[in-house]
Amino acid sequence: MTNASSPVELVTVPCLRDNYAFLVHNHATGDTALVDAPEASPIAAELARRNWRLTDILLTHHHDDHVGGLATLRDGARVIGASADAHRLPVLDLAVAEGDLLHICGQTTHVIDVPGHTVGHIAFHMPDAALAFTGDSLMALGCGRLFEGTPAQMWESLRKLRALPGETQICSGHEYTESNARFAASLDPDNSALKLRIRAIDAARAAGKPTVPSGLDEERDTNPFLRADDAGLKAHLGLQELPDEQVFAQIRANKDKF
Ligand code: ZN
Ligand code: FE
Repeated sequence: MTNASSPVELVTVPCLRDNYAFLVHNHATGDTALVDAPEASPIAAELARRNWRLTDILLTHHHDDHVGGLATLRDGARVIGASADAHRLPVLDLAVAEGDLLHICGQTTHVIDVPGHTVGHIAFHMPDAALAFTGDSLMALGCGRLFEGTPAQMWESLRKLRALPGETQICSGHEYTESNARFAASLDPDNSALKLRIRAIDAARAAGKPTVPSGLDEERDTNPFLRADDAGLKAHLGLQELPDEQVFAQIRANKDKF
């Protein structure tokens, strides 16, 4: 994950049962950022192994499987999270909202509001590194459950993320991809890009490798939650008369029962 002016390295850290945290490190400055803190020990071990020290911790949302390790890990690092959720996040050093521009590990970092899974969920986009940290909003072949927000809110959030450059790597919060793939295949059986992707997913998981991050361009082609406005998929579902956000709501409801 390099860029001529400001190279950063991305490290994916498996945590808990199926969570991912991410480390971003700038070798020139020594700065290291953590995105989400599901659990302290695997993250602390990765930092120690590389002799890195956290300068910033970015939080996508308030759920315990994203903040539970924070108290142990923060140790002077700047903790950044959504101003909308400051009342139920750990104490923030910097509260942010859509449109805010941060400087993290030498990378210009945009804050994007992505409500749906929770109402205060945010994502972080580093355009020069082609990285987006989406937590439990846009996920590999999926999206987060709607615990707090409405389908319309999540559809709008996903549309914003879908509009990022296609080469963006989507760094999402969980390894749910195999079950997401089975659901996607049930909705979209004729999608040849999806069939190819599922083969790659099965091979990666059989080899014990993560399927996260994933490329936004392949998400656009294969993730059914990004395809609620696709005429072919709508027709296949018999929902061609419905507005996109209602098609999205139907797809999300079907996944909850899948
Ligand atoms: Zn969550
Ligand atoms: Fe989660």
